[in-house]
Amino acid sequence: VAQSNTFAGEALHRAGDRRADDAWVAEQEALPTARAVVGGVAGVLVAGDEPALVPLASVRDDRVEPILLGLDAAGPVFAVDLADVGAGPDGGDAWTLRGSWVGDDVPAEHADVPGAPPGAELADLRAIAPRLSDADAGLLAHAAALLHWRRTSRFCGRCGAATEPREAGHMRLCPRCRLQIHPRTDPVVIMLVTRGDRVLMGRQPSWAPGRFSALAGFVEPGESLEAAVAREVKEEAGVDVGEVRFVSSQPWPFPASLMLGFEAEWAAGEPAVADAELEAVRWWTADEVAAACRGDGELSLPGPQAIARRLIDGWLERRGDPS
Ligand SMILES: [Zn+2]
Repeated sequence: VAQSNTFAGEALHRAGDRRADDAWVAEQEALPTARAVVGGVAGVLVAGDEPALVPLASVRDDRVEPILLGLDAAGPVFAVDLADVGAGPDGGDAWTLRGSWVGDDVPAEHADVPGAPPGAELADLRAIAPRLSDADAGLLAHAAALLHWRRTSRFCGRCGAATEPREAGHMRLCPRCRLQIHPRTDPVVIMLVTRGDRVLMGRQPSWAPGRFSALAGFVEPGESLEAAVAREVKEEAGVDVGEVRFVSSQPWPFPASLMLGFEAEWAAGEPAVADAELEAVRWWTADEVAAACRGDGELSLPGPQAIARRLIDGWLERRGDPS
């Protein structure tokens, strides 16, 4: 049974065709049903296994620049930065740059957000993702990615002036030189190289013992996805690939990636560690991979929230070895 990748299941209607209508956006912000996802550098606000949505009115003041995420059956949902709602230690005074945390020691338990439900706490999105529904994981990923983009787009990269939100927060405009800054997504190719009943996987030095995963890397400017797959496999493993097939994709807002999953057919070369990113790269047989899925053997695979695992499971399923 095909499941969606973690973070890919957002159910909101994004209303992208209405964002440029300022009057409509103002109406949405003023609705009593308007709610906000709150997030920041330290994480996202959750209560139990759900996003802790707060009434937008409870956090709305002139520091807050809500970003419209979309509409659900109950009304509009926005994203609001924790830094702007006076919820840092000392009531927000610790923020000397609006919208960016000063220092790294953000107290993860701090969640004094006006209007937050009882028990609300800041949580690391990657850590809590397995507990969330597909729709909630997707919603929080959407919010986290946009809030990160806003935190890093507050000044114009061309002339240095402070930027202003437009289009319900989905664009920032430089009032001095008119540069338009749009939310950024960084494409990453991740690929399972196959050769008959074997797959190629590598391991990074920092990973837990026995952990191997699919090879991956950022797409470079001016490069097609197919070329990026071939280049990364050659750089990391010294192997040439032939046919490349797209499988599925996964938003990965840590901070701004989109994982693009491929299968690539081996063409030539034997794997060897070729750069410092990996400490080992080798073939694994379908039997070894299937054993790892059952928790047996020396090989340890990424968890089900990783697209790498979905690629591996999909390959095994098509071979008739469901994990
Ligand atoms: Zn400018």
